[in-house]
Amino acid sequence: MHWNTFPLRLEAARKVTPSILHLEFARADGETFEFTPGQFINIHFEHEGHPVHRSYSVANSPEVADTIQIAASPVQDGLATRLLFGLKPGDEIASSGPYGRFVLRDDPPCRYVLAGTGTGVTPYRAMLPELERRLDNGYSADLLLGVWNPDELLYGGDFLAVAERCDRFHFHACYSRAVSDDPQPFETRGYVQSRFAALDLDPQSDIIYLCGNPNMIDQAMASLKALGFPSARLRREKYLSARS
Ligand SMILES: Cc1cc2nc3c(=O)[nH]c(=O)nc-3n(C[C@H](O)[C@H](O)[C@H](O)COP(=O)(O)OP(=O)(O)OC[C@H]3O[C@@H](n4cnc5c(N)ncnc54)[C@H](O)[C@@H]3O)c2cc1C
Repeated sequence: MHWNTFPLRLEAARKVTPSILHLEFARADGETFEFTPGQFINIHFEHEGHPVHRSYSVANSPEVADTIQIAASPVQDGLATRLLFGLKPGDEIASSGPYGRFVLRDDPPCRYVLAGTGTGVTPYRAMLPELERRLDNGYSADLLLGVWNPDELLYGGDFLAVAERCDRFHFHACYSRAVSDDPQPFETRGYVQSRFAALDLDPQSDIIYLCGNPNMIDQAMASLKALGFPSARLRREKYLSARS
């Protein structure tokens, strides 16, 4: 397959949780990058003489000009992991995109339930400005982030800030391994899909987004379908691992 690639230059990188690396790139060819929040890019590189690519969701809204941000979760002995975690500011990588249809659509006012595990929450960070506009126009949203423990609460501050500004937005941190010593009302123990039971879901009016771990998505899809959700109200992006 022929990929239409363009160069990205690393501007900055920092650990935003003990494991996850947040990377900020600029297009090195000076062109603008147009995308819809929720889409992903591919990064391209060679391994043992063969072309390889890996996908990463864009973590910022297009309203933040001239930047393409991603959050990379390390995978042991992973090829992209080694590339991304070894980059220095000024280094360039090849990229292509945007791709994907995991975006907010032209829905009438509804409640969005946005569930993600780990870096699967990044598309929702990109959607925040558009979501906030919709919250002012009759929509509401529950955002569920599943991580191991409070230290791994990726972009939690960004979601809490929206929850503080808008009472139609609710943030739920779901910890699978350990809760805080002094849990806040937004913090619970368990998987994201277990949290659905507390949300009083309505298959006729809620729209559910699921992103990240394929097991979470399969389990959530099964329970949501059992509740009567039609496929049109279930949208998903599985972070399947690629074949090199
Ligand atoms: C649409 C899409 C969007 C994605 N967005 C993101 C994102 O925003 N951030 C992000 O960090 N990742 C994201 N991913 C996953 C990402 O593309 C890579 O698959 C992941 O980073 C591992 O790549 P790697 O080259 O480091 O590991 P690989 O070289 O592909 O894998 C090394 C070994 O680890 C295994 N492996 C791969 N992934 C996992 C895993 N998750 N858990 C356990 N074992 C694994 C492989 O089977 C292989 O044996 C996305 C995937 C898709 C399909």
